[in-house]
Amino acid sequence: MDLSEKIYNMRKKSSISQKELGKLTGVSNRAVSKWETGLSRPSTANLYKLSKIFNVPVEYFISDIAENSMAIQNKPKMMKTLRDLYKIGRGPSSSHTMGPEKACQLFSEKNPNADLFKIILYGSLAKTGSGHGTDKVIEKTLAPKRAEIEFNYTEANIPHPNTMDMYAFRGNEQIDYIRVLSVGGGRIEIENAQMPDEADVYPHTTFEEISAYCLENRLTLWQYVFEVEGEEIFVYLENIWSAMKKSINEGLSSDGILPGGLNVVKKAKHLYSQRHIDESSETRENRMVCSYAFAVSEQNACGEKIVTAPTCGASGVLPAVLYYQQIKRGFSDSDIVKALATAGIIGNLIKTNASISGAECGCQAEIGSACAMAAAALGELLGLDIGQIEYAAEIAIEHHLGLTCDPICGLVQIPCIERNAVAAMRAINAVSLANFLSDTRKISLDKVIHTMKETGLDLSKSYKETSEGGLAKIKVF
Ligand code: SF4
Repeated sequence: MDLSEKIYNMRKKSSISQKELGKLTGVSNRAVSKWETGLSRPSTANLYKLSKIFNVPVEYFISDIAENSMAIQNKPKMMKTLRDLYKIGRGPSSSHTMGPEKACQLFSEKNPNADLFKIILYGSLAKTGSGHGTDKVIEKTLAPKRAEIEFNYTEANIPHPNTMDMYAFRGNEQIDYIRVLSVGGGRIEIENAQMPDEADVYPHTTFEEISAYCLENRLTLWQYVFEVEGEEIFVYLENIWSAMKKSINEGLSSDGILPGGLNVVKKAKHLYSQRHIDESSETRENRMVCSYAFAVSEQNACGEKIVTAPTCGASGVLPAVLYYQQIKRGFSDSDIVKALATAGIIGNLIKTNASISGAECGCQAEIGSACAMAAAALGELLGLDIGQIEYAAEIAIEHHLGLTCDPICGLVQIPCIERNAVAAMRAINAVSLANFLSDTRKISLDKVIHTMKETGLDLSKSYKETSEGGLAKIKVF
């Protein structure tokens, strides 16, 4: 079966029109028609989009493997371990600092004899890389070897908004080349290569499947995580919780100006220690939760260690909600670990079926996902049933749909830091609503995740971590 037939068959199987497929890939319906009649071929970037839309590996389109014999048919889709979601690393951006850092580590270990590396950054990595400190991380990771870094702002034919080319030289001779995609949450993919990545462990990939399995086997969501990942995941999540608490406490005791030139004053300590003019228990809750979210987000903006939850930019939401509950209600670390497991399932579903990358789907994919994770975690702590937890996560992400990513000067500061605080409060509201209204809901979490992905594909690239639109257009200097 040739490429044109594969596209035609996949589109028909998914019951979408040429017009809809054109919209999802950013081309006209005539262009789709040309792909399907073999008059033209999709660009590499569009092949990558097609693979995401139809949930098949991109190799399916670029190889001669027939659809029936392709592993796609036999290989069940799986979800990765929560170790791949929650990672401890340096901010300010999982896709712009942690991903490139990982790529540089792998590439430099693979080429110990190289004396020069040349790195070309494309898409969002080029447009906001300087603000995010991508160049500094690359230089630091490849040191003491020399690194030449080029920002390519114009190339549009790239397979992912966060693409980088890496060349290794010895003398004048090029000895290696790879193309790396930093796909969000610090995860990378190498074009045409298998990543030595964390394992696929979850056999279910929708909330509907997971919830049916849990109900049939009388499991809570955290028990499901422990059953699939084994008891060792408990220790991993305990470390994650310790790192989250550390970043809150260090952020609360830190003051001064954030780096980057925007002259943003750190506010976590101030929020924590001030009293509202008319402080009720509600305004105090608001102030405390926000101070914790600010603390982590400011640590992230300073390039300190935080936990991706699910990304660096959105790392303040989940710890803020959990820490407040621990202080207020005395939940044990073990209770919090269980809540982290439940939140992890939600983050994993979004990562698997949509995206957690601001460069790919806008801030809805980062802050929206973090809010859904925090709502699910709080639901778990408060003893909500699986249906209510699903509803809380669904409300949390639904009301972030369309949220754009437009960081001023490419720095993860404005609007990112406040946005973490607002999302933490919203997660608490989502749980209250879910508690009261769960019998009346009409939309499943799976449907909202699918809608988030479609909305993200529809968003103009100006609003996907390129610092070209929205707030990023405001001149603050
Ligand atoms: S606007 Fe949102 S997605 Fe964009 S960098 Fe800030 S937190 Fe991340």
